[in-house]
Amino acid sequence: MNTTRREMLLAMGAGVLALPHVARAQTGAHVVVVGGGFGGATAARYLRGADPGLRITLIEPQQRFVTCPFSNLYLGGLRDWDSNTHGYDGLRAAGIEVIHARAEDVDAAARSVTLSDGTRLGWDRLGLSPGIDFRWGELAGYDEAAAELAPHAWKAGPQTQLLRAQLEAMEDGGTFVMVVPEGAFRCPPGPYERASMVAHYFKTHKPRSKILILDSQDKFSKQPLFQQGWQAHYGEMIEWVGQSDDGLVVEVDASAREAVTAFGTRHKAGVLNVIPPQKAGMIAERAGVTDQTGWVPVVAERFESTLVPGIHVLGDATIAAPMPKSGFCANAQAKVAAAAIAADLAGREPPPASFANTCYSLIAPGWGISVAGVYRALDGKVVEVEGAGGVSPLDAGPEFRRAEADYGAGWYASICADIWGAA
Ligand code: FAD
Repeated sequence: MNTTRREMLLAMGAGVLALPHVARAQTGAHVVVVGGGFGGATAARYLRGADPGLRITLIEPQQRFVTCPFSNLYLGGLRDWDSNTHGYDGLRAAGIEVIHARAEDVDAAARSVTLSDGTRLGWDRLGLSPGIDFRWGELAGYDEAAAELAPHAWKAGPQTQLLRAQLEAMEDGGTFVMVVPEGAFRCPPGPYERASMVAHYFKTHKPRSKILILDSQDKFSKQPLFQQGWQAHYGEMIEWVGQSDDGLVVEVDASAREAVTAFGTRHKAGVLNVIPPQKAGMIAERAGVTDQTGWVPVVAERFESTLVPGIHVLGDATIAAPMPKSGFCANAQAKVAAAAIAADLAGREPPPASFANTCYSLIAPGWGISVAGVYRALDGKVVEVEGAGGVSPLDAGPEFRRAEADYGAGWYASICADIWGAA
């Protein structure tokens, strides 16, 4: 039996339950969700749909959320900034209380969360979808100050605008150098879509420029499709160097805009884009739900922490492989968690958990590719449904690629409407 049901029965029976001294809802249970991005905002909205009697509070510091999906298209000049930003009026209109603050601490025993403005909120269930934080300093020379010179742009916002400004300021004939990190990172195809979009910008504005991808991996997501598309659209402009060919970067000198590899090669960049090693967002660590990897183990049937019952964690912060760290997955996981929380609070069995993911990448205008997967929960783990996913065919023609580019745009519009509603 979970703690909430146990609490309810105790309260009804003996009336001896000592509730924590923090404020609680008078009617219905209170679910607090931290993080108003892909996972958190979805969870808040679908909790509302699952149980209109719940009190739902969403904690998110930003007034408007800027999506990482399609931020590469902004870099390539194919999207404007506003079209990638979303406000919270739609969630408020759905009856969700949205507080623009940062969650600073979680007291799992007292079931409370403390916000940056000092407010302490009690919860019956807590949702955490804080996304990623960076392991500053793990890559020698790369810390927060260095990111102002060599932007990561791996959380969409001012960093994305800084990277775009640097690309605009770079002289024609310069080299855009991208560093791809070791370990799990958000959006496995993201670096290669970024290289494609920067190539599109160079092709149309700075055709003598080059792109060098220094990769800690020896293979990457949708590799044959990306490399085919690069050759077709950009010729020799993009060079990819895998780990075995001296692609592993071990040090960065941000002020000199240089990346140094494991074999000691120094690469001088016109624009240096360093994607740093990552871990779960800080609040997950404070809540005690991360393990030694820095990520959050969860029970796949409910996306509930294996370490602290009552806390459901979603999205990039979780260990959910073989699901990738994508917005699509965060959205799917949040729906599973919302259904499980609502069922549990109502004393019902949650429905079976199933998940899907499609990651679209744009290589050039009208030239899209995708990878899809279908997953389910089995004995606490996420497992892939064999034969249900796949990647775009390598031998498809331009019409197929155009259709996938259109599907990608359609996906973005529909998932943003699903999550934030009105822009
Ligand atoms: P986020 O969406 O990042 O949301 C986390 C939220 O939590 C943020 O709003 C943050 O402000 C808030 N937060 C953090 N800490 C706190 C705190 N202490 N208190 C309160 N709030 C807090 N995915 C796709 O599916 N398709 C794509 O095409 C795609 N393209 C991408 C391109 C790039 C360049 C990148 C970097 C990523 C891309 N992704 C894509 C991945 C996608 O952005 C992430 O997987 C997704 O955002 C994860 O959702 P999340 O809820 O875990 O985190």
